[in-house]
Amino acid sequence: MTVAAPPARHAVARPRHLEALPRLARHVVASGEGRIEVRSPLDLESIGEVPRSAPKDVARAAERARVVQEDWALRTFDERGAIFLRFHDRLLERQDEILDLVQLESGKARLHAYEEVADTAIVARFYALHAARFLAPAARKGAVPGLTQTWEYRHPKGVVGIIAPWNYPLSMGVTDAIPALLAGNAVVEKPDSQTPFSTLWALDLLHECGLPEGLWGVVCGAGSQLGPALFDASDFVQFTGSTATGRHVAKAAGERLIGCSLELGGKNPMLVLVDADLDAAVAGAVRGCFASAGQLCVSTERIYVHESIYPRFLADFAAATRALRLGTRLDWSYDVGSLASAEQLARVEAHVADAAAKGARIEAGGRRRRDLGPYVYEPTVLSGVTPEMELHSEETFGPVVAVYPVASNQEAIVRSNDSPYGLNASIWSRDTELARRMATRLQAGTVTINETYVAGWASTEAPMGGFKDSGLGRRHGAEGILKYTEGQNVTVQRGLPIAPPKGVPAEAFARWFTGALKAVKRVPGIR
Ligand code: NAD
Repeated sequence: MTVAAPPARHAVARPRHLEALPRLARHVVASGEGRIEVRSPLDLESIGEVPRSAPKDVARAAERARVVQEDWALRTFDERGAIFLRFHDRLLERQDEILDLVQLESGKARLHAYEEVADTAIVARFYALHAARFLAPAARKGAVPGLTQTWEYRHPKGVVGIIAPWNYPLSMGVTDAIPALLAGNAVVEKPDSQTPFSTLWALDLLHECGLPEGLWGVVCGAGSQLGPALFDASDFVQFTGSTATGRHVAKAAGERLIGCSLELGGKNPMLVLVDADLDAAVAGAVRGCFASAGQLCVSTERIYVHESIYPRFLADFAAATRALRLGTRLDWSYDVGSLASAEQLARVEAHVADAAAKGARIEAGGRRRRDLGPYVYEPTVLSGVTPEMELHSEETFGPVVAVYPVASNQEAIVRSNDSPYGLNASIWSRDTELARRMATRLQAGTVTINETYVAGWASTEAPMGGFKDSGLGRRHGAEGILKYTEGQNVTVQRGLPIAPPKGVPAEAFARWFTGALKAVKRVPGIR
């Protein structure tokens, strides 16, 4: 690995703008004395403190949000959208501040922090401009042409509870709240305790852009403590995190008969077909496996390569991985940053050690780099991985990928689908029509051809989410905003009722109605 960072013993210098963090911490709804100290994985030094919320603070945040939401729901789509379009512009203008904060909270490289800025801007722009298209009252075909008029209305659920993880502190902290708010809801959010400031920074910016105070409440603390209060206070729950916690959230939502959307884990495959542009596939694999040091739900952890090109792919991919620059500075000078925590590092080390002990070959990486930072781990490529090894099927959620030869496209599809997960996949081929047909046979919510995840993720008009154990519900697209609403059918019946007119026997009415149904099926304009 090329080294592009100062020795880890040197603390990462804190930029002056972080002096605003104590002011941001005041946005947390908390009544007690407890504090949570947020430390950077880059140097283990403090970033700042936020107050620790209690379950009663969750209820308080929700009550206040509900009051503010009444007026918010009456505003027009344009009024609400204007706030998020201002947010879009100011976020891009002030990106250096949030890039520093995301890097400090998560440990990732600046380019990967920038992905979060771009993602947040794209989602804000998309839903600010298109919410009305999905949600404005719309005329629908009535039961009896000419007599029945029907409209579909979309009402906000009320208070949306959001639980976010640490791996994409800005994206995951904000992009699910945006459609919820634009649909007329209030939000109460619990960011991960390791990364609350990115959410608070965005909330502060949204206040500056005109979002009413109290509409989006933030509480901080352990999920196991605040979760039950949040489920009780919410009319819908949006959760992003592990599959294990997702099951728990689904049960709690089921008890209360409220909806939930769950964005969970993955073990994402990449398929390199025999006609792939190999250089492009190698570069794509490097991006797809090691962005945010692999702590990305859509990160590639399995690569299936046609056996005729496998040796060259493996050699080039290992070489490109070894050439990555590792670092921990708040600048653009390196490619891959740190893992986010001691737990993450332990999991990555355990997976690699287990695989190596059972006979896997380490083609690149495979070592912790204390010289660069407390949790830095080299991007790692493995071959010879077998089903007995933990990382064969379990999500590592780190910079570790296994490469396998396959004899055919069919084998690549079968092995890709042989997983309880189904979040993301990518296919590399010059024949994009063939790749598109193969994509529809993959059990994955997103399949990107000739790119790993960025192009699919950033195409926000289409839904994104998981098959199987990777989730329930979708973000992005129509589904990403409709889920935060109650659909309502309002129908006006004129003239005759849909019932036997006075004096007409029921059987005669049924015969006449049956004839009418058959006729309607034949008329293109009204069927
Ligand atoms: P996690 O489930 O441990 O924690 C996620 C969030 O849930 C945190 O805010 C945590 O405080 C909270 N939480 C934990 N226990 C809770 C409980 N009992 N009740 C309520 N809330 C609780 O997940 P993690 O390990 O922090 O995140 C990594 C996982 O998230 C990986 O599996 C990754 O694939 C997944 N993830 C998925 C997506 C996606 O969009 N599909 C995105 C990012 C991360």
